[in-house]
Amino acid sequence: MTGVRAIKGMHDILPDQTPTWRYLERTVADLLTAYGYREIRFPVLEFTELFKRSIGEVTDIVEKEMYTFEDRHGVSVTLRPEGTACCVRAAEEHGLLFNQVQRLWYMGPMFRYENPQKGRQRQFHQIGVEAFGMEGPDVDAELIALTARLWQQLGIAGALRLELNTIGTPESRAAYRKALLAYLEPHKDKLDADSQRRLSTNPLRILDSKDAATQALLANAPSMRDYRDAESDAHFQGLCALLDSIGVAYVVNDKLVRGLDYYSRTVFEWVTDELGAQGTVCAGGRYDGLVEQLGGRATPAVGFAMGMERLCLLLETRQPQAGSEPMPAIYCVAAGEAAQKAGFALVEQLRNLMPGVGVQLNCGGGSFKSQLKRADRSGARIALILGEDEVAQGVVNIKWLRDVDAGRQAGQQTLPMTDVQAWLSSQLADL
Ligand code: ATP
Ligand code: MG
Repeated sequence: MTGVRAIKGMHDILPDQTPTWRYLERTVADLLTAYGYREIRFPVLEFTELFKRSIGEVTDIVEKEMYTFEDRHGVSVTLRPEGTACCVRAAEEHGLLFNQVQRLWYMGPMFRYENPQKGRQRQFHQIGVEAFGMEGPDVDAELIALTARLWQQLGIAGALRLELNTIGTPESRAAYRKALLAYLEPHKDKLDADSQRRLSTNPLRILDSKDAATQALLANAPSMRDYRDAESDAHFQGLCALLDSIGVAYVVNDKLVRGLDYYSRTVFEWVTDELGAQGTVCAGGRYDGLVEQLGGRATPAVGFAMGMERLCLLLETRQPQAGSEPMPAIYCVAAGEAAQKAGFALVEQLRNLMPGVGVQLNCGGGSFKSQLKRADRSGARIALILGEDEVAQGVVNIKWLRDVDAGRQAGQQTLPMTDVQAWLSSQLADL
């Protein structure tokens, strides 16, 4: 095709894929509702300042990944790269955080200007969950328990492991940052280019580096554990004990830090080895300082976001049938003008009387032969066949289309038009 194509890194989700997406969306929404979380929806476009003030100026997202542009009046706006900042903005703006706890979730597209590869796109989708007004660690554990249950329900628990850490308070982190810098500076030339740059901007992110030489150097680096404040440690132990009490397994990963500035204390990631380099399917943590940083009253908060593309990839390999949706059971073939009219009325009447049953009408005419071919391809079990003669006699021909139904009846059967619905109801009841 020489026409217009989709933008690089922005993908269509095709009809063969949407059943998996809908299954994922449905399963998550039902589970969140059962845990008492309520959905919130906010715009995909926000003032750029919101993300600069929340995510942090020296993070990957703000430095190089945002879709930022000026609107027609020269105001800088940004397509949301993540949902937490938007959720805080919306909740604060509508007074949802004042003197109350809130359990919220959202779902939708996010935008980051990244190098597209498997599991990494420029428009991607997240389901995010945020809990406000609770200091934890009980609510931290609740969020993790909820995700563990979700993987069970989706049938992908075996592919995922939980990594957990606490990054302490901003003060303890500042002390650790100093120690890490003192250790790394003399070895600056051994660091990969990104990490060298981060030395002066966001040195904790170096812990996250995938570069082997950098990781080798980090093996002897000071540990965050030694700089952590006692309260954060106690909070973390509380979280671990709650997870132990319900049998959720985890690995404590001392080097786990999150890419965004606003995290404190608990951080966690669910990781898989089955998707190549893009192995994190769900990530989150506590961000007790963010609400205040955005102008609200100090409010403890914790949340996570899962990447829906990565979850769908896992579902496709582990649960290929998940969410498959049946095609309409009945296909109405109608050849000739009078039959097309009668067919149209018949299917609408069937839809009135049997609202749960899928009925498809052959539109656009065609010979019996070509219409029956379409009926066959549609996946329907039963064809209702109408021609000029059938209409004149007030009858409908019936044909079973699938091999599995071969034993039901040989050949074709004719029924009075008025009996069709009762006959279908009795037949469909045993399918
Ligand atoms: P990564 O290290 O993979 O870049 P991140 O730390 O930038 O991830 P978060 O901001 O924590 O990611 O987003 C939460 C989840 O959203 C990720 O764990 C991932 O599953 C998904 N995600 C993030 N960026 C993308 C992307 N560009 N394409 C597809 N999924 C993404
Ligand atoms: Mg990223």
